[in-house]
Amino acid sequence: MSSSTQAARLDWSSGQPVASDYGDVYFSRDSGIDETRHVFIHHNQLPARFAALADNAVFSIGETGFGTGLNFLVAWQTFLQHAPASARLAFVSTEKHPLQPDDLQRALAMWPQLAPQAEQLLQQYAELPPGWHRFTLQDGRISLTLLVGDALETLPQLDAAIDAWFLDGFAPSRNPDMWQPALFQQLARLSAPGATLATFTCAGMVRRGLTAAGFSVEKVAGHGSKREMTRGQLVTPPAAGWLAPWYARPRQQAAERSAIVIGAGIAGASVAHSLALRGWQVTVLDRQPAPASEASGNPQGVLYTKLSPHFTPLTRLLLAGYSHSLRTLAAQLPPGEESWQPCGVLQLAHDADEAKRQQGLANAGLPTGILHAVSAQQASQLAGVPLTHSGLYFPQGGWLHPPALVRQLLAHPNIRLRTGCSVDSLQQLENGQWLAANQHGELARASVAVLANANDVRQFAAGSQLPLKPIRGQVSVLPATAASRALRSVICGEGYISPARHDSHCFGATFKFEQPAGATTPGEHQENLAMLADMVPALYQALGGDSLQASDCTGRAALRCTSPDYLPLAGPLVDAEAFRQQYAILSRDATLQPDTPAPYLPGLYVTTGHGSRGMVTAPLCGEVLASLLENEPLPLPKGLMDALHPSRFLLRGLIRKKNKQPS
Ligand code: SAM
Repeated sequence: MSSSTQAARLDWSSGQPVASDYGDVYFSRDSGIDETRHVFIHHNQLPARFAALADNAVFSIGETGFGTGLNFLVAWQTFLQHAPASARLAFVSTEKHPLQPDDLQRALAMWPQLAPQAEQLLQQYAELPPGWHRFTLQDGRISLTLLVGDALETLPQLDAAIDAWFLDGFAPSRNPDMWQPALFQQLARLSAPGATLATFTCAGMVRRGLTAAGFSVEKVAGHGSKREMTRGQLVTPPAAGWLAPWYARPRQQAAERSAIVIGAGIAGASVAHSLALRGWQVTVLDRQPAPASEASGNPQGVLYTKLSPHFTPLTRLLLAGYSHSLRTLAAQLPPGEESWQPCGVLQLAHDADEAKRQQGLANAGLPTGILHAVSAQQASQLAGVPLTHSGLYFPQGGWLHPPALVRQLLAHPNIRLRTGCSVDSLQQLENGQWLAANQHGELARASVAVLANANDVRQFAAGSQLPLKPIRGQVSVLPATAASRALRSVICGEGYISPARHDSHCFGATFKFEQPAGATTPGEHQENLAMLADMVPALYQALGGDSLQASDCTGRAALRCTSPDYLPLAGPLVDAEAFRQQYAILSRDATLQPDTPAPYLPGLYVTTGHGSRGMVTAPLCGEVLASLLENEPLPLPKGLMDALHPSRFLLRGLIRKKNKQPS
């Protein structure tokens, strides 16, 4: 992924959006909406194909060039008119130059007949960083996965089976870089059997390229004054290349759309919600008397993301997760005193290393709506308290009451929450169902089980191989004062402090390896006070200064759960012993390409290891699991899917063994 995205530059002088860099229109000047209906909807036979969908079926559309989203909104509207109520539309589109939100709003205002769809899209649409972005719309019936970047770079990373293609993306004469043989080969690779395509152009190089990639194409009448366009169908699917079987998508489909989720924190609530939106019946089990009672239970969490200027896999996941969580909040949880405040987050450059990291990020070309550099004076104005360091400002971020989001995600009619239920055993029955039980008997049974109980996934045989580490964290809470109420944004440095919620400030948190959760300790309150005194001396004074004692603080302690590479684990679980035996040859030669399928435990999945960033990573990982289970386009590039795969440590173990052997 390249780190920068250049937003579209639009010329509105003709009253219609024209892309200044390409000198081309986004849609026909005569009637964009009619042309979309003719070219893309009619010539992919979408009304009839939507009407013929089975219950719960997913229809996937792929597009090159999202532009103003007009094609997407028309496909969405057509889907609602023709498809059965339980069917869903998965729309995947690529976009190298995303529109700024105000340009998108202005362009979509041209189509009052699409207002219900446009409103929902705009509610979630903010400046987009590079990477992939999943939007959940129409109560989950419609999903949009927007691949921000060059189609020639993003499509090779996509895992999807597309039923119909919309080839847009400006005229080939104005944008020859996109209409390349490599693009046509990707379209063929990503096509479901019998996939169709339609495009406004009938340029010879496009027709020849598509034919060479395995499509049959024909010229048909274009819309309005345009004489011809092209439509086609995949007739010769390309040969599939070797794909590492240890990271392959499990192919078994659940017999019945029911799931048990163990753990009612943000990880469990997120996957339960993503499945419930897809019509699954989900039972969420938690040992505590209420959801979000362990690591997701702090009064205030910070929604921001600590990124590396090197755009590591973790950084790419955090960027995607951050904007995904912001969209989830925009759709699910209106800002309020109680739940969530998008008050902005300041990250202070508190030492030389941090200043260098921040400088790298500020120059990485990320949209200013994601982050930008601020001087100490600007930071002080934003925060409402004097600050002595410059920093980075995340204008869309803020603080969140994590239990409010967890409760909201669980409040879906397809989710049954059972608290006070400790799961002692999880076994697969002969009929393939998973049975969760404890000493009092059966708790739930379903065709899929998801382990979302942080470090305790290791208590189950199938999770015992996962290398998870608990890290204790304690936050401290102090009553607000007249002076501290001036704080307007979250401030982060070595720790963090938020503007008051319920007239109290929450700050922290400590990091303690190999220590139990248990009660809060005065020593850790003292550490948090010292952190605050160092990070924002003025606020420390405003809250009481040196007269403050640990005993003035309340707070809570919980265990985070992290993995050795600090990335979460989200995906299917294998039988570890069978995996080691099956791929033992890799410890002799890691370049071998075996094709034995991985020994997945059918229907068993995990989402854990979210560390202190669950509010950023867990909602997106919920979409990852639900997309795997429903055989939908995946919301993350293949490289990131592999980086999250729970089998990665088993694989690394085998390869390390090879490296340890004498050569
Ligand atoms: N389908 C759009 C709509 O409904 O508004 C109109 C698409 S417009 C004609 C073409 C779009 O393709 C532009 O938004 C442009 O930025 C995008 N584009 C051009 N080259 C691209 C590339 N190499 N990769 C991804 N997107 C590209």
